[in-house]
Amino acid sequence: MIDVKSIREDFPILKREINGYPLVYLDNAATSQTPKQVIDTIVDYYSNYNANIHRGVHTLSQEATDKYEMARKTIQKHFNAKHSYEILFTSGTTHGINLVASGFAALLKPGDELLVSAMEHHSNIVPWQMLCEKTGAVLKVIPMNEEGDLVMDSYKALLNDKTKLVFCNHISNALGSINPVEEIIAGAHAVGAAVLIDGAQACPHLKADVQALDVDFYTVSAHKMCGPTGVGVLYGKEEWLRKLPPYQGGGEMIAEVSFEKTTYADLPHKFEAGTPNICGGIAFGAAVDYLNGIGMDAIAAYEQELLQYATGKLLEIPGVRIFGTSANKTSVISFNIEGIHPYDIGAILDKLGVAVRTGHHCAQPIMDYYKIPGTVRASFAFYNTREEVDTFIEAVKRARNMLL
Ligand SMILES: *Cc1c(COP(=O)(O)O)cnc(C)c1O
Repeated sequence: MIDVKSIREDFPILKREINGYPLVYLDNAATSQTPKQVIDTIVDYYSNYNANIHRGVHTLSQEATDKYEMARKTIQKHFNAKHSYEILFTSGTTHGINLVASGFAALLKPGDELLVSAMEHHSNIVPWQMLCEKTGAVLKVIPMNEEGDLVMDSYKALLNDKTKLVFCNHISNALGSINPVEEIIAGAHAVGAAVLIDGAQACPHLKADVQALDVDFYTVSAHKMCGPTGVGVLYGKEEWLRKLPPYQGGGEMIAEVSFEKTTYADLPHKFEAGTPNICGGIAFGAAVDYLNGIGMDAIAAYEQELLQYATGKLLEIPGVRIFGTSANKTSVISFNIEGIHPYDIGAILDKLGVAVRTGHHCAQPIMDYYKIPGTVRASFAFYNTREEVDTFIEAVKRARNMLL
């Protein structure tokens, strides 16, 4: 069980008022809030041991290096990677996907097929389109249905010996659907294709076990799981990381440099050119520790309760339609009210202190599927309360009355 009252004490921002109302923060799918344990880690870094890593013999540099590498181990353990060097620090999910897409340019030929799900974030679509332009590979789409589930029969029909890569999110940021990634990975491996799972939306709600999944690449952003922005990790299976060429050239990623020939550093440094977000990486480790202190299972169970409660209340409001009604979903509710533009609802909710997202949620193909311009999205975290759900529902009712 979760002690929400004491958890909320960890998040200074939750005490804010917006337009004279207590903040009700329901935009967690865009970015999560930061507990003081993580904020303290950031302050401690800049107050006490700010230095560049892996380079200096001096004490501060060694302290920073030790903490950064400890964070890598914490994250390795969290996702159950076999080796810490399979955990690459990135600037976030977008960076991780681009790193893999860029690496595959050397491994694909014209006519190779890549499969993408119909419910991806733009960051898991556009890098692959760019890769197809470069290589002549062909992008094919795994369709979804009205409920927001992938059509797995169509997926299986798309797989063949030309399929080289499959990419899909673990949880949809726009619909909340939890995708059957085990089945997706097994199907791809049966035809010899590699799989990248975008875990950006899953990482706040569940603990992915990359070895149990047998996934080839798994990518997350720290800021979706109580860490800072601008840092994330890409997990890659050792054999793939050895096969892929470096993404960027620079300092830190080399073994030896001369004008005749440069050799690359070993993993993970081969993919970590330049000075990284050192403080961010260390704070990411603190965020992972924080979440595990509460327990990912407890978090998931509590968020399910909030989801069920909020869904029931919302559906009592006339004209509400929820997009994403999978039996297997997490605490994200995308909805519209008949006859009202989502933006207008979002603007009134903000006046009442309730923060939600409106728009296409970086997933325009989903909006095209439903033939809508966008939705209002309320996404719940473990620090939200039932009372906040009530406030949100009352605010939606008020918005509806004002706008209709
Ligand atoms: C947030 C998100 C991304 C992008 O993450 P960045 O931190 O902006 O790189 C990608 N995919 C999904 C499913 C997301 O929710």
